[in-house]
Amino acid sequence: MTQNKKENNFERQIEESHMENERCDFCHEGRLKAQNVREYYRYQGDLVIIDNVPAYVCNTCGEHYHLAPVAKKLRNIAENRSKIEKRISIPITTFDNLIFERVKTRYSSLPSCLLPFNRIFTAKER
Ligand SMILES: [Zn+2]
Repeated sequence: MTQNKKENNFERQIEESHMENERCDFCHEGRLKAQNVREYYRYQGDLVIIDNVPAYVCNTCGEHYHLAPVAKKLRNIAENRSKIEKRISIPITTFDNLIFERVKTRYSSLPSCLLPFNRIFTAKER
């Protein structure tokens, strides 16, 4: 298959998927919308940021869904990350975990105010 045919096939597979407005499998509340997103792809201890990724995004919890050919391409990009020239520097620090250690000794079970990470950081903030 030529590169051009491969690209056309890839685009057709995405266009022919009908996931728009499907219910979210993660939160069971939201509906999926097709949009291009930024993905933070973790691979073998590295982080690769990939922009303009076609995805279905839940309008309630912000979960991203990818079609199989997109997921395959993401992995391929991550595997070949050494060839990517653009680099950024990212601040890294440690959260003050002493607070949590004290909380753990006071509560025997998990407090009911826990929020899943992807509800705190909505699709907009990602
Ligand atoms: Zn959802």
